[in-house]
Amino acid sequence: MGTEWEDHIIGRTLAIESYGNKVARDLTRISMTAVNRLRRRMERISEKSQFTRGFLHRVIGELSGTIYKLAPKYQKTLEKASLRVLELEYDKFTRVMRKKGGLSIKKANYKVPVEAAKAMLEEPIGGASIKGWAEKHLGRLLIRTKNLLTEVVITGGTMRDGIKILRENIPNMSRKGAQFLARTGVMHASNTARDEVWKEYGDIIEKFRVVSTLDNRTCLACGKIDGKEAKKRENLPKFPLHGNCRCTVIGLTALDLRDEDKLVRPAVIEQTSHTVHHRDGGTSKKFKVIKSKEVSAKKKFKDFFERQPEKWKQEYLGPGRYKLYKENRLDLEDFSSNGNILTLEQLKSQLTIMGTLEKEVVEKEKERKKEVKKIIRKKEAEKKNPK
Ligand SMILES: [Zn+2]
Repeated sequence: MGTEWEDHIIGRTLAIESYGNKVARDLTRISMTAVNRLRRRMERISEKSQFTRGFLHRVIGELSGTIYKLAPKYQKTLEKASLRVLELEYDKFTRVMRKKGGLSIKKANYKVPVEAAKAMLEEPIGGASIKGWAEKHLGRLLIRTKNLLTEVVITGGTMRDGIKILRENIPNMSRKGAQFLARTGVMHASNTARDEVWKEYGDIIEKFRVVSTLDNRTCLACGKIDGKEAKKRENLPKFPLHGNCRCTVIGLTALDLRDEDKLVRPAVIEQTSHTVHHRDGGTSKKFKVIKSKEVSAKKKFKDFFERQPEKWKQEYLGPGRYKLYKENRLDLEDFSSNGNILTLEQLKSQLTIMGTLEKEVVEKEKERKKEVKKIIRKKEAEKKNPK
C-alpha cells in the first residue's frame, strides 16, 4: 500500500523516465534525419549515370555540411530535456524531504537556471562530458559515412550499395548511443538535483551514504564504495562515476538512522538479458529481473558479493580476476583504485611487488632470528665459563 508521497515519487519517476525516452527518441530521430538526407542526396547522384571520384569528394563535403547543420538541433534538444529532467527531480526531492523531515519549509518554487542544465552537459562523466559525447557521436557518424562511401567506390559497388550500407550501419550506432546518453543523462540530472536539494535541506541530514545497485551489473569500482558514508556531501564522489552508472548518494535524517535496523534495500539475485532487434536495424539489450529479495539496508555490495555462489562470482569477475581472487585471496576492494578498475596486468604487477616485499620481510625475520640465537648462545657460553 503506497503512501501519498510514494505514489508521487512513482509518478515523477515515470515522468522522468519518459523524458529520458524522449531524449533517446529525439536523438534517434535526428540521426535518422541525417541518414535520410544523405540518402536523398545520394539518390540524386545515382541518377546522373556517371561520376568521378572528384565529384564524389565534393558530395561528401556537402554531406558533412548537412550533418553539421543538424548538430545545433541535437544540442538544443539535449539542453531542453536536461533542464526539464532537472526540474522534475528537484521538485520530487523537495517534496519528499519536506515530508520526511516533517518540517514546514516554504513551498519549493525553485526554478533550475538554464546554466545548470548547460553546466550539467559540460560536466565530465567517466572522462567525457555528455556534450563532448554528442559531438564525438556526430563526428563518428561523419567519419563512418565517409569510410563507407569510400569503400563502395574502391570495391566498385553501385550507389545503391552505398545507400544500403549507410542505412544498415548508421542507425545501429545512433540507437546504442542514444540509449547510453539517455540513461547516463537521466542519472546525471537526478544526482545533480539531489545535490542541490541537500544544499537547501542540509540541516536535517545527519550523514550521506553511497548507494549502488546490488546486482551483477554493478562495476567493481562502484561496488567497492557502496555504503561509504560521510558527514559532508562533498566528501563523497560525484555520480554518475562512468557511463551507464546507476549509483547515487542518499541523505539520512535522524529518523532514518533511528529506524535503520528495520530498513531494507533490494538485491537482484538473478536476471536475464536478451538482445532486442529494432525495425531500423539497431539492437539494444533488455534486462529482466528473475529473482530478487530484500536485504538489510546495512548490507553493502561487498557482503552481497561474498554471499553469492561461486558460479555467480566467476561470471561477475571474469576468469582472470576470479583466478586472482581465489588463488591470491584478493578482496573485492583490491580490483579497483581511486574509482578506476585495475587491468589484469596492473593487478599482476601489484601482486609481484607484494610478493617481493613479502620475501624481503621473511628474509629479514630469518636474519633477526639468527641474531637472537647468536646472542643467546653467547650468553649461555658466558654462564658456563665465567671469567
Ligand atoms: Zn556506479
